[in-house]
Amino acid sequence: MYDYIIVGAGSAGCVLANRLTEDPATSVLLLEAGGNDETVPDIHDPTKAHELAHTAVDWAYATEEEAHLNNRKIFWPRGKVLGGSSSINYMAYVRGNRHDFDQWQALGNDGWSYADVLPYFKKAENRERGALAYHGVGGPLNVFELSTINPLTEAFIAAGVELGWSRTDDANGASQEGFGTFQNTIRDGKRHSTAVGYLHPVMSRPNLTVWTEMLATRVLFEGTRAVGVAYLQDPIVKMAAHSRSGRRKRSSFPVAPSIPLSCLCSPVLGLVSTSKKLVFVL
Ligand SMILES: Cc1cc2nc3c(=O)[nH]c(=O)nc-3n(C[C@H](O)[C@H](O)[C@H](O)COP(=O)(O)OP(=O)(O)OC[C@H]3O[C@@H](n4cnc5c(N)ncnc54)[C@H](O)[C@@H]3O)c2cc1C
Repeated sequence: MYDYIIVGAGSAGCVLANRLTEDPATSVLLLEAGGNDETVPDIHDPTKAHELAHTAVDWAYATEEEAHLNNRKIFWPRGKVLGGSSSINYMAYVRGNRHDFDQWQALGNDGWSYADVLPYFKKAENRERGALAYHGVGGPLNVFELSTINPLTEAFIAAGVELGWSRTDDANGASQEGFGTFQNTIRDGKRHSTAVGYLHPVMSRPNLTVWTEMLATRVLFEGTRAVGVAYLQDPIVKMAAHSRSGRRKRSSFPVAPSIPLSCLCSPVLGLVSTSKKLVFVL
Protein backbone atom coordinates (compact mmCIF):
# COMPACT_ATOMS: atom_id res chain seq x y z
CA MET A 1 0.00 0.00 0.00
CA TYR A 2 1.44 3.35 -1.06
CA ASP A 3 0.09 6.72 -0.05
CA TYR A 4 0.89 8.08 -3.51
CA ILE A 5 1.53 6.56 -6.92
CA ILE A 6 3.36 8.94 -9.26
CA VAL A 7 3.13 7.95 -12.91
CA GLY A 8 6.08 9.24 -14.91
CA ALA A 9 9.51 9.96 -13.41
CA GLY A 10 10.00 13.05 -15.56
CA SER A 11 10.72 16.65 -14.64
CA ALA A 12 7.63 16.90 -12.45
CA GLY A 13 7.57 13.28 -11.21
CA CYS A 14 11.11 13.34 -9.79
CA VAL A 15 10.43 16.58 -7.91
CA LEU A 16 7.18 15.20 -6.47
CA ALA A 17 8.86 11.94 -5.41
CA ASN A 18 11.58 13.85 -3.60
CA ARG A 19 9.31 16.34 -1.85
CA LEU A 20 6.60 13.85 -0.83
CA THR A 21 9.09 11.39 0.70
CA GLU A 22 10.70 14.10 2.84
CA ASP A 23 8.08 12.96 5.35
CA PRO A 24 9.19 9.45 6.41
CA ALA A 25 5.57 8.57 7.19
CA THR A 26 4.52 9.07 3.54
CA SER A 27 5.09 6.16 1.14
CA VAL A 28 5.44 6.75 -2.60
CA LEU A 29 5.59 4.52 -5.66
CA LEU A 30 7.20 6.19 -8.69
CA LEU A 31 6.38 4.34 -11.90
CA GLU A 32 8.31 5.06 -15.12
CA ALA A 33 7.94 3.62 -18.61
CA GLY A 34 11.59 4.19 -19.53
CA GLY A 35 14.77 2.88 -17.97
CA ASN A 36 17.49 4.20 -15.66
CA ASP A 37 19.29 7.30 -16.98
CA GLU A 38 22.52 6.22 -15.27
CA THR A 39 22.98 3.46 -17.84
CA VAL A 40 23.04 5.93 -20.76
CA PRO A 41 26.28 7.99 -20.66
CA ASP A 42 25.24 10.26 -23.56
CA ILE A 43 22.41 11.68 -21.42
CA HIS A 44 24.95 13.16 -19.04
CA ASP A 45 27.23 14.71 -21.67
CA PRO A 46 25.69 18.08 -22.65
CA THR A 47 27.46 18.01 -26.01
CA LYS A 48 25.49 14.85 -26.94
CA ALA A 49 22.00 16.31 -26.32
CA HIS A 50 21.12 16.42 -30.00
CA GLU A 51 22.09 12.74 -30.42
CA LEU A 52 19.42 11.47 -28.00
CA ALA A 53 16.50 11.96 -30.38
CA HIS A 54 15.20 8.74 -31.96
CA THR A 55 17.02 6.58 -29.41
CA ALA A 56 15.51 4.31 -26.75
CA VAL A 57 15.23 7.27 -24.34
CA ASP A 58 12.94 9.24 -26.70
CA TRP A 59 9.24 8.53 -27.30
CA ALA A 60 9.85 10.12 -30.72
CA TYR A 61 6.31 11.36 -31.31
CA ALA A 62 5.13 13.18 -34.41
CA THR A 63 2.39 15.79 -34.60
CA GLU A 64 -0.66 15.38 -36.79
CA GLU A 65 -0.35 16.80 -40.28
CA GLU A 66 -0.01 20.57 -39.83
CA ALA A 67 -2.16 22.47 -42.31
CA HIS A 68 -0.04 25.61 -42.03
CA LEU A 69 3.20 23.69 -42.54
CA ASN A 70 2.37 22.19 -45.91
CA ASN A 71 0.68 19.28 -44.11
CA ARG A 72 3.96 18.07 -42.72
CA LYS A 73 4.10 16.00 -39.52
CA ILE A 74 6.58 17.57 -37.13
CA PHE A 75 8.96 15.45 -35.08
CA TRP A 76 8.13 15.82 -31.38
CA PRO A 77 10.71 14.29 -29.00
CA ARG A 78 9.86 13.51 -25.34
CA GLY A 79 12.08 11.79 -22.79
CA LYS A 80 11.39 8.15 -21.90
CA VAL A 81 13.78 7.52 -19.04
CA LEU A 82 14.29 8.61 -15.42
CA GLY A 83 14.31 12.41 -15.57
CA GLY A 84 11.91 12.35 -18.54
CA SER A 85 12.41 15.22 -20.96
CA SER A 86 14.85 16.87 -18.53
CA SER A 87 17.17 13.97 -19.43
CA ILE A 88 17.06 14.74 -23.16
CA ASN A 89 16.35 18.47 -23.37
CA TYR A 90 18.77 21.24 -24.28
CA MET A 91 19.29 22.33 -20.66
CA ALA A 92 18.29 25.98 -21.08
CA TYR A 93 17.00 27.21 -17.72
CA VAL A 94 13.98 29.32 -18.64
CA ARG A 95 11.10 30.11 -16.31
CA GLY A 96 7.59 30.85 -17.46
CA ASN A 97 6.73 34.47 -18.16
CA ARG A 98 5.58 36.68 -15.30
CA HIS A 99 2.48 37.81 -17.22
CA ASP A 100 1.26 34.22 -17.74
CA PHE A 101 1.41 33.52 -14.00
CA ASP A 102 -0.29 36.82 -13.21
CA GLN A 103 -3.03 36.07 -15.72
CA TRP A 104 -3.69 32.66 -14.13
CA GLN A 105 -4.06 34.43 -10.81
CA ALA A 106 -6.38 37.02 -12.39
CA LEU A 107 -8.55 34.17 -13.70
CA GLY A 108 -9.16 33.08 -10.13
CA ASN A 109 -6.26 30.74 -9.41
CA ASP A 110 -5.07 31.99 -6.05
CA GLY A 111 -1.42 31.37 -5.31
CA TRP A 112 -0.31 31.36 -8.98
CA SER A 113 0.81 34.98 -9.42
CA TYR A 114 4.49 35.46 -10.24
CA ALA A 115 5.05 36.92 -6.77
CA ASP A 116 3.54 33.72 -5.31
CA VAL A 117 5.64 31.27 -7.36
CA LEU A 118 8.95 33.16 -7.30
CA PRO A 119 9.92 31.82 -3.83
CA TYR A 120 9.50 28.27 -5.20
CA PHE A 121 11.69 28.99 -8.23
CA LYS A 122 14.32 30.31 -5.84
CA LYS A 123 13.93 27.36 -3.48
CA ALA A 124 14.46 24.91 -6.35
CA GLU A 125 17.56 26.67 -7.64
CA ASN A 126 21.24 26.54 -6.87
CA ARG A 127 22.64 29.49 -8.81
CA GLU A 128 26.37 28.90 -8.97
CA ARG A 129 27.08 32.64 -8.99
CA GLY A 130 25.11 33.28 -5.82
CA ALA A 131 21.69 34.55 -4.78
CA LEU A 132 19.98 37.58 -6.30
CA ALA A 133 16.51 39.10 -6.00
CA TYR A 134 15.28 36.67 -8.66
CA HIS A 135 17.63 33.74 -7.91
CA GLY A 136 18.28 31.30 -5.10
CA VAL A 137 21.10 29.11 -3.84
CA GLY A 138 21.08 25.76 -2.06
CA GLY A 139 18.25 24.19 -4.09
CA PRO A 140 18.47 20.81 -5.83
CA LEU A 141 18.61 22.19 -9.42
CA ASN A 142 22.02 23.55 -10.40
CA VAL A 143 22.00 26.64 -12.61
CA PHE A 144 25.18 27.42 -14.47
CA GLU A 145 26.14 30.51 -16.43
CA LEU A 146 28.94 30.75 -18.96
CA SER A 147 31.97 32.53 -17.56
CA THR A 148 33.34 33.39 -21.01
CA ILE A 149 31.21 34.21 -24.01
CA ASN A 150 32.19 33.27 -27.53
CA PRO A 151 33.00 36.42 -29.61
CA LEU A 152 30.47 35.28 -32.23
CA THR A 153 27.77 35.10 -29.56
CA GLU A 154 28.74 38.59 -28.40
CA ALA A 155 28.51 39.83 -32.00
CA PHE A 156 25.03 38.26 -32.35
CA ILE A 157 23.82 39.97 -29.16
CA ALA A 158 25.35 43.27 -30.29
CA ALA A 159 23.55 42.93 -33.63
CA GLY A 160 20.24 42.56 -31.82
CA VAL A 161 20.92 45.66 -29.74
CA GLU A 162 21.94 47.57 -32.86
CA LEU A 163 18.54 46.73 -34.35
CA GLY A 164 16.83 48.33 -31.37
CA TRP A 165 16.20 45.38 -29.08
CA SER A 166 17.23 45.51 -25.46
CA ARG A 167 20.05 43.44 -24.00
CA THR A 168 19.19 41.19 -21.07
CA ASP A 169 21.83 39.52 -18.95
CA ASP A 170 19.19 37.60 -16.99
CA ALA A 171 16.30 36.09 -18.94
CA ASN A 172 14.86 34.86 -15.61
CA GLY A 173 15.08 38.28 -13.99
CA ALA A 174 13.03 41.45 -14.18
CA SER A 175 12.41 41.13 -17.93
CA GLN A 176 12.65 38.15 -20.25
CA GLU A 177 12.77 40.32 -23.33
CA GLY A 178 15.99 41.07 -25.15
CA PHE A 179 19.17 39.51 -26.46
CA GLY A 180 21.51 37.63 -24.11
CA THR A 181 22.86 34.21 -23.17
CA PHE A 182 21.02 31.32 -21.55
CA GLN A 183 21.42 29.98 -18.05
CA ASN A 184 21.80 26.21 -18.07
CA THR A 185 20.90 23.24 -15.87
CA ILE A 186 24.43 21.86 -15.90
CA ARG A 187 26.79 20.99 -13.06
CA ASP A 188 30.50 20.22 -13.34
CA GLY A 189 30.12 19.87 -17.09
CA LYS A 190 27.28 17.34 -16.82
CA ARG A 191 23.51 17.58 -17.42
CA HIS A 192 21.63 18.35 -14.22
CA SER A 193 18.27 16.75 -14.92
CA THR A 194 15.59 16.38 -12.25
CA ALA A 195 16.64 12.71 -11.97
CA VAL A 196 20.15 13.88 -11.04
CA GLY A 197 19.03 16.79 -8.88
CA TYR A 198 15.97 15.37 -7.15
CA LEU A 199 15.66 11.60 -7.55
CA HIS A 200 19.02 9.86 -7.30
CA PRO A 201 20.02 11.64 -4.07
CA VAL A 202 16.92 10.17 -2.32
CA MET A 203 16.63 6.76 -4.01
CA SER A 204 17.66 5.01 -0.79
CA ARG A 205 14.77 6.45 1.24
CA PRO A 206 12.85 3.41 2.59
CA ASN A 207 9.52 5.14 1.89
CA LEU A 208 10.30 5.58 -1.85
CA THR A 209 9.90 2.77 -4.38
CA VAL A 210 10.94 3.34 -8.01
CA TRP A 211 9.87 0.98 -10.78
CA THR A 212 11.35 1.50 -14.25
CA GLU A 213 10.23 0.02 -17.59
CA MET A 214 6.59 -0.08 -16.47
CA LEU A 215 4.02 1.53 -18.73
CA ALA A 216 0.92 2.83 -16.91
CA THR A 217 -2.13 2.02 -18.98
CA ARG A 218 -5.13 3.05 -16.90
CA VAL A 219 -6.24 4.76 -13.72
CA LEU A 220 -8.36 2.34 -11.71
CA PHE A 221 -11.52 3.55 -10.00
CA GLU A 222 -13.77 2.33 -7.26
CA GLY A 223 -16.88 4.33 -8.05
CA THR A 224 -15.69 7.86 -8.60
CA ARG A 225 -12.56 7.39 -6.54
CA ALA A 226 -9.17 6.70 -8.18
CA VAL A 227 -7.61 3.83 -6.26
CA GLY A 228 -4.63 2.74 -8.34
CA VAL A 229 -3.12 2.39 -11.79
CA ALA A 230 -2.80 -0.52 -14.20
CA TYR A 231 0.58 -0.90 -15.86
CA LEU A 232 2.20 -2.94 -18.54
CA GLN A 233 5.41 -4.89 -18.19
CA ASP A 234 6.30 -6.93 -21.27
CA PRO A 235 3.01 -8.51 -22.38
CA ILE A 236 1.52 -8.54 -18.91
CA VAL A 237 -0.69 -5.88 -17.37
CA LYS A 238 -0.19 -5.74 -13.65
CA MET A 239 -2.43 -4.00 -11.19
CA ALA A 240 -1.15 -1.86 -8.35
CA ALA A 241 -4.29 -1.06 -6.42
CA HIS A 242 -5.03 0.31 -3.01
CA SER A 243 -8.02 -0.21 -0.82
CA ARG A 244 -9.47 2.03 1.85
CA SER A 245 -8.78 -0.71 4.40
CA GLY A 246 -5.08 -0.34 3.66
CA ARG A 247 -4.78 -3.84 2.18
CA ARG A 248 -2.78 -3.84 -1.02
CA LYS A 249 -4.39 -5.72 -3.89
CA ARG A 250 -2.09 -6.95 -6.63
CA SER A 251 -2.88 -9.22 -9.53
CA SER A 252 -1.85 -9.64 -13.13
CA PHE A 253 -3.52 -10.66 -16.37
CA PRO A 254 -2.36 -10.96 -19.96
CA VAL A 255 -3.37 -8.29 -22.46
CA ALA A 256 -5.14 -9.70 -25.49
CA PRO A 257 -3.00 -8.75 -28.53
CA SER A 258 -6.16 -7.58 -30.28
CA ILE A 259 -6.68 -4.75 -27.77
CA PRO A 260 -4.88 -1.68 -29.11
CA LEU A 261 -2.83 0.04 -26.47
CA SER A 262 -4.56 3.30 -27.32
CA CYS A 263 -7.73 1.80 -25.85
CA LEU A 264 -5.96 1.14 -22.59
CA CYS A 265 -3.89 4.19 -22.00
CA SER A 266 -4.27 7.91 -22.14
CA PRO A 267 -1.53 10.51 -22.61
CA VAL A 268 -2.68 12.05 -19.35
CA LEU A 269 -0.75 10.55 -16.48
CA GLY A 270 -2.25 9.94 -13.06
CA LEU A 271 -0.97 10.04 -9.52
CA VAL A 272 -3.45 8.43 -7.16
CA SER A 273 -3.91 7.73 -3.51
CA THR A 274 -6.73 6.55 -1.34
CA SER A 275 -5.60 8.16 1.86
CA LYS A 276 -4.24 11.48 0.60
CA LYS A 277 -4.98 13.92 -2.20
CA LEU A 278 -5.50 12.90 -5.80
CA VAL A 279 -2.96 14.69 -8.00
CA PHE A 280 -2.36 14.50 -11.74
CA VAL A 281 0.92 15.15 -13.53
CA LEU A 282 1.38 15.30 -17.29
C1 LIG B 1 14.46 17.79 -27.17
C2 LIG B 1 13.88 18.70 -26.12
C3 LIG B 1 14.54 19.87 -25.81
C4 LIG B 1 14.02 20.73 -24.83
N1 LIG B 1 14.76 21.80 -24.44
C5 LIG B 1 14.37 22.52 -23.36
C6 LIG B 1 15.21 23.51 -22.80
O1 LIG B 1 16.34 23.72 -23.26
N2 LIG B 1 14.76 24.22 -21.73
C7 LIG B 1 13.52 23.96 -21.18
O2 LIG B 1 13.15 24.63 -20.19
N3 LIG B 1 12.71 23.01 -21.68
C8 LIG B 1 13.14 22.26 -22.71
N4 LIG B 1 12.34 21.25 -23.17
C9 LIG B 1 11.04 21.04 -22.53
C10 LIG B 1 11.14 20.42 -21.12
O3 LIG B 1 12.19 19.45 -21.06
C11 LIG B 1 9.79 19.79 -20.80
O4 LIG B 1 8.79 20.80 -20.87
C12 LIG B 1 9.72 19.18 -19.39
O5 LIG B 1 10.81 18.32 -19.17
C13 LIG B 1 8.38 18.45 -19.25
O6 LIG B 1 8.29 17.93 -17.95
P1 LIG B 1 7.11 16.93 -17.56
O7 LIG B 1 7.34 16.48 -16.17
O8 LIG B 1 5.81 17.60 -17.88
O9 LIG B 1 7.24 15.72 -18.59
P2 LIG B 1 8.46 14.75 -18.88
O10 LIG B 1 9.72 15.29 -18.27
O11 LIG B 1 8.47 14.48 -20.34
O12 LIG B 1 8.09 13.45 -18.05
C14 LIG B 1 7.08 12.54 -18.40
C15 LIG B 1 7.56 11.16 -17.93
O13 LIG B 1 6.44 10.28 -17.93
C16 LIG B 1 6.86 9.03 -18.49
N5 LIG B 1 5.67 8.40 -19.03
C17 LIG B 1 4.89 8.83 -20.05
N6 LIG B 1 3.84 8.00 -20.24
C18 LIG B 1 3.96 7.04 -19.29
C19 LIG B 1 3.18 5.90 -18.94
N7 LIG B 1 2.04 5.60 -19.59
N8 LIG B 1 3.59 5.10 -17.91
C20 LIG B 1 4.73 5.40 -17.22
N9 LIG B 1 5.51 6.47 -17.51
C21 LIG B 1 5.12 7.27 -18.52
C22 LIG B 1 7.86 9.42 -19.55
O14 LIG B 1 8.67 8.32 -19.94
C23 LIG B 1 8.61 10.54 -18.86
O15 LIG B 1 9.70 10.05 -18.09
C24 LIG B 1 12.81 20.39 -24.16
C25 LIG B 1 12.15 19.20 -24.48
C26 LIG B 1 12.68 18.35 -25.42
C27 LIG B 1 11.98 17.05 -25.71
